[in-house]
Amino acid sequence: MTRTHPAPQLVAFALTAATLTLVHRVVHPPMLLAERYLAGAGWVQILVIASYAAWLTTKLLEPKGSARWRRRVWLLFSVVFFAQLFLGLAGFEGLLMTGELHLPVPAVILAGPIYRGTGLFMPVLFTVTALLVGPAWCSHLCYFGAWDDLACRLRRRPQALPSKTWAVRLGITIAVVAVAVILRIAGASTMGAAASGLAFGFVGVAVILLWSRRSGVMAHCVAYCPMGLVANLLGKLSPFRIRIKDDCTLCGACGQVCRYDALSKGDLQRQRPGLTCSLCGDCIGACPNGQLEYRFGGLRGTRARTLFIVLAASLHAVFLALARV
Ligand code: SF4
Ligand code: SF4
Repeated sequence: MTRTHPAPQLVAFALTAATLTLVHRVVHPPMLLAERYLAGAGWVQILVIASYAAWLTTKLLEPKGSARWRRRVWLLFSVVFFAQLFLGLAGFEGLLMTGELHLPVPAVILAGPIYRGTGLFMPVLFTVTALLVGPAWCSHLCYFGAWDDLACRLRRRPQALPSKTWAVRLGITIAVVAVAVILRIAGASTMGAAASGLAFGFVGVAVILLWSRRSGVMAHCVAYCPMGLVANLLGKLSPFRIRIKDDCTLCGACGQVCRYDALSKGDLQRQRPGLTCSLCGDCIGACPNGQLEYRFGGLRGTRARTLFIVLAASLHAVFLALARV
């Protein structure tokens, strides 16, 4: 007897609708924007966003267009995120999460709770996404990374970053934690801590404009941002992996599209991408011999990719509806 599977689009619709319904029923004041402006309209927003998740699943499943759609919707999410922030600051306070301002700098997800000693919502959210889709936060869900992606594509092909880049990012991550601890012990004011976070964010923008644009690699995400390293390490808790099959000819075509510096010749010989892989999936369609695939434990190929895309599209849709500062 053949086992039938529900359509991936249906699963993405159901996952998104169920998550948003839970948030809508449990959290007060309302998290959904439509509900904030018109009582009852939150249910319509849930329907629209869940339909969007189903549509996006179709687009991301297309073998050829997948990479393009991922980048488009990722950028869309970031534009919506920052537009809400700027409009919120301009006086439309309903567009802010709580009315209290938080810094939209990814490193603050790590440093903020260390400095404050409270506020674990974002670290928990980050960990849950890592459990579900590995390091895909950094290729589908981050409001900052989408701009790094845009900048690096100004150069047609990525260049390999220096081999000790991992040590730079490790050093920056340790420094960020150390500064947060020092600010806490020293009893630094919120303004002082916010200024440090902002300065870190502005240096990150400079890295995007100077290093990513020139190298064609997402240097901000691969070499500077501590959350990229945390995502790569926490992502190991998820069974999702990209793997290179035995008949890889080492032609390097996949390395020409990897913006995360994760497909060097050594990585190809080891038949696994480097630590910086974000599971973006762009390399899969680039291999002329079909030698790259998603894996999820014993699940391989199309099935593992479909599972990953359903989860990534659902999370993206939920973030689009809920993520704001
Ligand atoms: S590395 Fe940092 S900025 Fe880049 S996508 Fe990941 S969390 Fe966002
Ligand atoms: S190895 Fe493939 S899936 Fe991983 S970051 Fe590079 S292109 Fe994306």
